[in-house]
Formats: sequence, C-alpha cells, structure tokens
Amino acid sequence: MPWEAAVDFSLTPEERQIRDTVRSFIEKEVMPLEPEVLRNEREGRPGLDADVLRDLRAKARKSGFWGINTPEEYGGAALGPIMSAIIAMEIGRTFVPFSFGGSADNILYAGTDEQKQRYLIPTIEGERRSCFAITEPGAGSDARNIRTRATRDGAEWVINGEKTFITGGNEADFVMVFALAEEHGVTCFLVDRDMGWTSEPIPTMGQWGPASLVFQDVRVPEENILGELGKGFELAMQWIGQGRYMIPARAIGSSERMLQMAIDYAKIRKSMGQTISNYQAIQWMIADSQVEIEAAKWLTLYAAWQVGQGMDARHASSIAKLNGAVMANQVVDRVLQIHGGMGYTKELPIERWYRELRLLRIFEGTDEIQRRTIARNLIKGHARLGLIGE
Ligand SMILES: Cc1cc2nc3c(=O)[nH]c(=O)nc-3n(C[C@H](O)[C@H](O)[C@H](O)COP(=O)(O)OP(=O)(O)OC[C@H]3O[C@@H](n4cnc5c(N)ncnc54)[C@H](O)[C@@H]3O)c2cc1C
Repeated sequence: MPWEAAVDFSLTPEERQIRDTVRSFIEKEVMPLEPEVLRNEREGRPGLDADVLRDLRAKARKSGFWGINTPEEYGGAALGPIMSAIIAMEIGRTFVPFSFGGSADNILYAGTDEQKQRYLIPTIEGERRSCFAITEPGAGSDARNIRTRATRDGAEWVINGEKTFITGGNEADFVMVFALAEEHGVTCFLVDRDMGWTSEPIPTMGQWGPASLVFQDVRVPEENILGELGKGFELAMQWIGQGRYMIPARAIGSSERMLQMAIDYAKIRKSMGQTISNYQAIQWMIADSQVEIEAAKWLTLYAAWQVGQGMDARHASSIAKLNGAVMANQVVDRVLQIHGGMGYTKELPIERWYRELRLLRIFEGTDEIQRRTIARNLIKGHARLGLIGE
C-alpha cells in the first residue's frame, strides 16, 4: 500500500446526509418562492414577507436546522465551520433572502450573564434583531479612525455620533455600536433602540438596504459595555474575522446555480444555425467559471477548517474572501453574457444576482483591504508561502 498523507476531502455519511437534507429543503421549500420574491421586489416590496420567513424557519427547525453554528448549550446544532460553509453553499443556490434561524453574532457570547439573557438568547430565539455598527461617514476601511464618542456621566455613558451602511440597522432592536470612550479608546456598547438612537434607510443597488444611525446624547448604562472598556476594536475584528469564509461560501452556491443556468441555456439557444454551446467562445466562459468556482470552494473550506482547528485563520480567510468575491462577480458577468439580452432583463434573476454579488467586493473588507492584509502578512512574515496542512 502506498503511504497516504492525512488529507481527506470526503464527508462522513452523517455530514453527507446533512448536506443532502439541506439541499432538498432548499429545493422543495425555498426555491418555489423565487417567482414570488422577484414579483414582490419588482413591485417595491421586500422579497419575502416576515411571516413567510417565520414559517420557513419553523419548518426548518422541525427538520433540525436551527442554530447551525450555535453551541448546543444554547439549543443550537453546533455543526462547526466546515459544515456551516457547506450549508451556506447550499443556501446560496437560491436568491430567496433566507437563512436558517437560531444564530447570534459571535461577540454576544462575550457578554455577562445578564447581557446574555437580554441580548444573546432573544437574538438566538429570533425575538430580537441586532446590528453591528462600526463604519462611519469618515471611517470605512480606516475603521480605527472612528469619531463616535462616549462620555462618562455618573453610572452612564452618553453617546454622540453617526454610523453609516449598517446592515439591518433600520430593523434592529439593538445595536452593538463602537465608540471612543474617553481615554480608554474604542469600546463596544449594547444600545437598545428605545435608548434613543434613530435610523434612516440608505437605498442601494442591492435589494435590502443598509441604514445610517444617529446617536444624539444617547444615555447607556455602564453595564451595557460589551466585553472590556477600551477593548472594542479587538471585538470588532473578532466579529468581522470569525465568519469571513461564509461570504465566499454563499457566493459559491449562487455561482454554481447560475453556471448551470448558463449551461442549460447554451444547450437550447440557437444562433447562426447552431446551439451556442457549440461555440468555443461560450465553452471557454463555462470552463473558466467552473475552474474558478472549484478553486474558491477549496480556499473557502480551507479557511473554515483553520477556524475549526482553532488556528489563526485571518490570512486564509482574507485569501478566500478576496478570491470568492472576485470569482462570483466574474461568473455572474459571464452567465449574463451567455444569456445575451435575456440576461439583462428582470424576467430572469441574473441581473438581481449581478447587483447583489457586487457588494461582496466591498463589505467586510474591500478587495483592496484584503490584498493589503495578505501582502502585509507575507512581507512581515506573519504568513509564509509553500506550507500545506498548517
Ligand atoms: C450594503 C452594505 C452593508 C454594510 N454593512 C455594514 C455593517 O453592518 N456594519 C458596518 O460597520 N459596516 C457595514 N458596511 C460598511 C463597509 O464595511 C464599508 O463600506 C467598507 O469597509 C468600505 O469602507 P468605505 O465604504 O468607507 O470605503 P473607503 O474606505 O472610503 O474606500 C474607498 C476605496 O478606497 C480603497 N481603500 C481604502 N483604504 C485603502 C488602502 N489603505 N489601500 C488601498 N485602497 C484603499 C477601498 O478599497 C475602496 O476601493 C456595509 C457596506 C455596505 C455597502
């Protein structure tokens, strides 16, 4: 028997079963809603009604899909990063704005027992909605440059400032907001909406817009500091870093589904007496797309594996996020091209995906910031070339 290295790309029978059950749930319960989502959005309504999403999640919960990466002690399935990435790939096959419920932002686990009761558990249960606010009009990639201030006044902190591009900011019941707390520096505060912050939606080219948040003399009790005073930046990086591989994971599912659409269309669309699948120009777009999707898949799973091993996965996650975001944008562009004029219409979901996927190159660290991170890690020796399995 030849000696075998311990690299193993197979899934266990149980993992395959989970993947197949998710795939069949998405195909049977979620994909049939696609025409309704397109219709609603075309008419200016949210793609999915809140009660339709609630019902879907309840059905999913019955099948055991609840809190995919939530620890078991909080009622979750604790499936770990690789399975979470594989499930995200399955969900990404549909553009229906669906996610399994039962999850909360990773940094809420850093809360005190009381904070967990008030914020973490209700978020897991879907009773409260959170948002994460670090970006400001003058501080995006340069997140260390935030200006929102928190000033101590007795047992309270008074927050003043503005946040922008906050996902879910118009719907959230509370915000994890990052502010400069006097000489202590960046600190994260849990702030309920009824403590006084306001929000305004920002229209974007995507279907669900983020919001700007305004804090004007918002008084927050001392016990609402999440983690430690002055340690907010570390928490923010933990929030961004932990799930970075999930962004390309979902995009891989979308790209595969679209590529299949392009293949199916190329086999029936005729031009100049032949189906366009006969033309090399079309074949190369199909081939290049699959090569890029496969590469993105393994980079993403490698980053997820590192997270699961408790390793410092920041470098691998930056590589996976940069590559996956660029890949998805290239694939959707080719798929649109293969569909010709039809690809450009709102009759098909391709133009919708085209707009939605564009965001991937911007949020949670732009392409340029990922490149900067990757290059700096190599130049400073934090990451080395040529290593496999570490
Ligand atoms: C739909 C959407 C949802 C979002 N959700 C959230 C959220 O929930 N919470 C939150 O806090 N933020 C959120 N963001 C903000 C997002 O993270 C920022 O938009 C992103 O970090 C880029 O910041 P910026 O928009 O200020 O661009 P800038 O930082 O101003 O960048 C402008 C351009 O300059 C480049 N650039 C900047 N610095 C450098 C550099 N050092 N080297 C090379 N190039 C550089 C950038 O890559 C970009 O191309 C969201 C944004 C969008 C669009």
